Amino acid sequence: RAKSKGRSTYEFYTSEMTNQAVIRFETEAALRQALINQELELHYQPQWALDGVSVIGVEALIRWQHPERGLLAPGGFIPVAEESNLINEIGSWVIEEACRQFAEWMSQGLPPIKLAINLSGRQLIYGNVPEVFRTSLARYGGVVPASAFEFEVTETILQSGSKAVAELQELQEMGAEIAIDDFGKGYSSLGHLSQLPVDTLKIDQGFVKGLPDHDTNVAIVRAVISMAHSMGLKVIAEGVEEPGQLLFLQSLNCDFGQGYLFCKPVVAAEIYELVMASRIEIPFQ
Ligand code: C2E
Ligand code: MG
Ligand code: MG
Ligand code: MG
Repeated sequence: RAKSKGRSTYEFYTSEMTNQAVIRFETEAALRQALINQELELHYQPQWALDGVSVIGVEALIRWQHPERGLLAPGGFIPVAEESNLINEIGSWVIEEACRQFAEWMSQGLPPIKLAINLSGRQLIYGNVPEVFRTSLARYGGVVPASAFEFEVTETILQSGSKAVAELQELQEMGAEIAIDDFGKGYSSLGHLSQLPVDTLKIDQGFVKGLPDHDTNVAIVRAVISMAHSMGLKVIAEGVEEPGQLLFLQSLNCDFGQGYLFCKPVVAAEIYELVMASRIEIPFQ
């Protein structure tokens, strides 16, 4: 009896869905170890004023320097972390590391630039982001001001209840800014946004992709920029890859841009070089 039970358990565990669960479980365990082994790192992608000349900020994007598989992008492991509390530990590490890096840049003489940090919804629902941020800033005794940071959240977080919104409010009261990431993919109306602690909209790269030929995307981007501006919000276009997209965004008075046309995410030392070199040659102007 026990034997047949063991056998059916075995069969159960080899079903395809369960294999995925096992892979997820293994990834989670490996990720937990990666935190301990310090295999996680932040890369930074510059954000530009749309004259294409000055870097106004950088977005921190997490990477996993895996001992066997090399440098891994977040798409393969952040969703796994988000299914457990691990996202809170990773998220806290991201905030601490971003503060540490900002302090290092300051000590190297880098002009202050905005540093954007991605938050996942679960961090705001189950974690204590303002407390982690406060503690991280306090380590550097004033060298790292709250106002240097922008926290990026997706639209869905705005529906996930009052604790999340209250924490965003608290971050904003401390002096940090709040950006809505991937804006346009969700369902929040611009009217709804006016009641929330938001400073910046990041237009999702899916809408930027079709510019300037895709009529629907043109209409959406035009409407988002003009309504955001009338509400006093700034706009960053994500995923700018082509000169034609940039020209069109400039014509709509979009404030900032980010994308492979300008620069891909790079390590901190390269950001230092880039900002210090400060005048970037732009072949398309
Ligand atoms: P996101 O916050 O929307 O970040 C933008 C993504 O688009 C990044 O991918 C970036 O490398 C990529 N990208 C930038 N410019 C271009 C472009 O011109 N074309 C295209 N096709 N892609 C471009 P990445 O680094 O793989 O990050 C993916 C997502 O992982 C992020 O999307 C964000 O949601 C999440 N993520 C990254 N770092 C963190 C983190 O520290 N914490 C949390 N919770 N999530 C993170
Ligand atoms: Mg982001
Ligand atoms: Mg985005
Ligand atoms: Mg995203």
